[in-house]
Amino acid sequence: MTTKITSLYVHVPFCSGRKCAYCDFFSLPYREEEGEQYLTALAADISLTVATAPVGSLHTLYLGGGTPTSLTPAQLEKLLTLLFSSFDREEKEWEFTVEISPETLTAEKLSLLKEGGVNRLSIGAQSFDDRILAAMGRRHRAVDIFRAYELARKAGFASISLDLIYGFPGQSCANWEKTLATAISLAPEHLSVYCLQVEPDTPLSAKIEAGILTPHPQEEEAAMYYLAVDKLTAAGYQLYELSNLARPGFFCRHNLTYWYNRPYLGLGPGAASWYNGYRRTRIADLNAYSQGLAAGIIPVSEEEYIDRETEMAETIILNLRLTRGIDLTAFSQRFGVDLLQKYKATVEKYIQAGLLELKEGYLRLTRQGLFLSGEVMRDFLP
Ligand code: SF4
Repeated sequence: MTTKITSLYVHVPFCSGRKCAYCDFFSLPYREEEGEQYLTALAADISLTVATAPVGSLHTLYLGGGTPTSLTPAQLEKLLTLLFSSFDREEKEWEFTVEISPETLTAEKLSLLKEGGVNRLSIGAQSFDDRILAAMGRRHRAVDIFRAYELARKAGFASISLDLIYGFPGQSCANWEKTLATAISLAPEHLSVYCLQVEPDTPLSAKIEAGILTPHPQEEEAAMYYLAVDKLTAAGYQLYELSNLARPGFFCRHNLTYWYNRPYLGLGPGAASWYNGYRRTRIADLNAYSQGLAAGIIPVSEEEYIDRETEMAETIILNLRLTRGIDLTAFSQRFGVDLLQKYKATVEKYIQAGLLELKEGYLRLTRQGLFLSGEVMRDFLP
């Protein structure tokens, strides 16, 4: 039986200016004509996709990027209308998140989003230190975050997440602690804390290669990670995934779809989908994306068949990201396989190393294993 897709991701490939120094997501500086080009191509992508993909009534919709709010109010309205005229939604389950970059937010855009069914905002704050924000190449400063946050609350948004990054060269533990304290004082419902990843071919990697910036050693990154976990849990947030914390009832259900390894659809240039056994990534190039769709083809840059063995390994890796771990009963019902038997050697190796533990029918990372999860996960791959 085909599993219906109930989670949709839509990639909006624009940001409000030059790219952040560390970013390797597909995004272009926003230009109004390209915004129109994107919307035309997206409409064609939707109609071709819904004709073939097993899309059910949506439970979660996530508008990411890029910066969706770099579109004009008229374009945002067009996008919301397009989405709602194309997909059904499950009212009782409904979670609709939009990623926000603080400098792009206005009261007008917020009210459009609210009226358009958006009920969760994810604000890319990253830091409350202007010096760090400038070094990151962000286009906002701390004051913009406060302003965006206040506008969002005034507009009636009751579910707000803040994204924060730690481990930026030059950022001290004390500086990170201040950012955490400021985030806590705002009282968002959800927080994502990401360790800086140095991606190749970014201005950040060029500065590191040239010796202008020095990355933190892994022990310092680990110290910043556990500092965040401890400060935020002490403030009442629950660490439910390696990098995500929330107040009760505010876990990100869209991202849980990925971590449970359930099917999802991704639309827009650069977006990935997984359903009917295939993972497909749409081409990360706006012109090629538009031209393909104008010719009646969905331009895909990568297509991979995910066989049963790979799906099993990916489910383990994604489930391990959740602090509750892998539900061993659910795993055996899904795959007809006893995980502890099949991966006996790997499981025993990491239990002995103190990185994994078995508790009440779940296999999960220990506190020590949280920061070293990559090492454990790699060992489950076929
Ligand atoms: S706002 Fe986000 S998507 Fe845009 S350049 Fe910065 S990190 Fe990349």
